[in-house]
Amino acid sequence: MIEINGKSVYNALAMGKLHFWGNDNQIIKRTKTENTKAEVLRFKDAQAKAKKELRELYQKAVANVGKANAQVFEIHIMMLDDEDYFGAICNMIQTQSVNAEYAVSYTSDIFAKTFGEMGDEYMRARAADVLDISKRLVNILIGVEKPSGEFSEPSIIVAPDLAPSETVRFDTSKVLGFVTFKGSANSHTAILARNMNIPAIINTGTIDTSFDGRMAILDGHSGTLYIDPDDDKIEDFKRRKALELERIELLKNLRGKPNQTKSGKTIDIFANISSPRDIVSAIANDAGGVGLFRSEFLYLEQKDYPSEDEQFFKYKEVAEKMGGKPVIIRTLDIGADKKISYFNLPEEENPALGFRAIRICLTDTKMFKTQLRAILRASAFGNIYVMFPMIVSQNEVSRAKALLEECKSELKADKIAFKEDIKTGIMIETPAAAIISDLLAPMIDFFSIGTNDLTQYILAADRQNHSLEPFIDDKHPAVLRLIEETAKNAHKHGKWVGVCGELASDPTLSEFFMNIGIDELSVSSSHILKLRENIRSLD
Ligand code: PEP
Ligand code: MG
Repeated sequence: MIEINGKSVYNALAMGKLHFWGNDNQIIKRTKTENTKAEVLRFKDAQAKAKKELRELYQKAVANVGKANAQVFEIHIMMLDDEDYFGAICNMIQTQSVNAEYAVSYTSDIFAKTFGEMGDEYMRARAADVLDISKRLVNILIGVEKPSGEFSEPSIIVAPDLAPSETVRFDTSKVLGFVTFKGSANSHTAILARNMNIPAIINTGTIDTSFDGRMAILDGHSGTLYIDPDDDKIEDFKRRKALELERIELLKNLRGKPNQTKSGKTIDIFANISSPRDIVSAIANDAGGVGLFRSEFLYLEQKDYPSEDEQFFKYKEVAEKMGGKPVIIRTLDIGADKKISYFNLPEEENPALGFRAIRICLTDTKMFKTQLRAILRASAFGNIYVMFPMIVSQNEVSRAKALLEECKSELKADKIAFKEDIKTGIMIETPAAAIISDLLAPMIDFFSIGTNDLTQYILAADRQNHSLEPFIDDKHPAVLRLIEETAKNAHKHGKWVGVCGELASDPTLSEFFMNIGIDELSVSSSHILKLRENIRSLD
């Protein structure tokens, strides 16, 4: 039995086969080729395809983010045509009789190393471009799209790291748990594991791919992965798993009971969801509403922009299934770790501080209005609220609200039903928004505090960077003070305030949240009844 330790980000247990995920670290094998002429042609064909892809990406990027930001694709096209680069690859195929993918990969590494050692900063930055081009060419040559996200039997997923654009492609009914070599507690993989009520451990360091397909036990309590577990471990797993299921059953007795302390203070507990599929679990766990519908996951699941109708049907489904309970739809929060290829957003030095969320929506207003119209139309079928993410200024709130009003006027003119007085709120997830919450409160109906981003921005610590874990105290007094300040400012203006980041489910903070008058906590469905139990135990 092999024992691998990591950091637990969700306490649960699973047993199943390991399934290694991802092709980024793929080793390109060197093979001998007899027909070097055909191999050069194969390379030239891949080069032409790569250029075609890049030209399309360039056009889309110009339309979405402007010429200056689209320039990176132009540079890639130029590099693909560079005689030195192109010539070196052809030469290697011809003189060493190697396969094209190996020649591309080998030559690119040499070029990247040379660029990386140059004195000029601009030239040094080209190293990443060469590697990017190389990946594109290799993927074309070996016919790799992206892993499909399908596996035949329920498995524990093992990966270097997982981006939201990858996790959305999993058939979640077949995922038993997550193990990542890197990762962080507030990453979306961790959030997904909590939503799915499955164990997850991060920061294990590299695990050898030769373990692919081997039987394992994932213990999310201790943060341990046991590969080829012995009989004693399997027995221990079975006993503890039975207790885990028993506890889940016991918690069900709390359904229908109020979230009320012994002295009678109450708080709403809502669910965080990413898709209409999550509603089943929200209802089973007696959610009082949906406090955060991460609408960007609808975009992440698609190969192209979802249309107004596609979005409308999904929002309507959630609103109807929640039967009149509040459903807070957060408008698109794309960017940073949530990357969508068809948005063709340029690479950024600091994506968490970059072009994301409301900044993208206020730039591409056509796309934003498509979403707002879909939300408004769905509001006629339930109790939908709309919420804007990543706000830093009053100006952004005014502009977002003005676009919402524009959509209302258009729908009215077309005699399409919607809720005229739809409640409009904002996420408080930047220090700027928390600090000016007294100025923002009169502009909206509610606040929802996103502690995941708020913590990263207050503590200047990237939520994706696993090496910062020892430096992050998510209950840092600066974070708690700004939460309290935000709650005070909301209440001063008669507005309600919720918390929808991961801190909302931390049982050690329930008392604090109730004392400062937080009105609503929005958590992964699997946390709702545990949180209710905790609140009912408070004085
Ligand atoms: C947050 O930042 O706390 C939040 C809820 O939003 P997300 O985790 O989707 O960034
Ligand atoms: Mg956020």
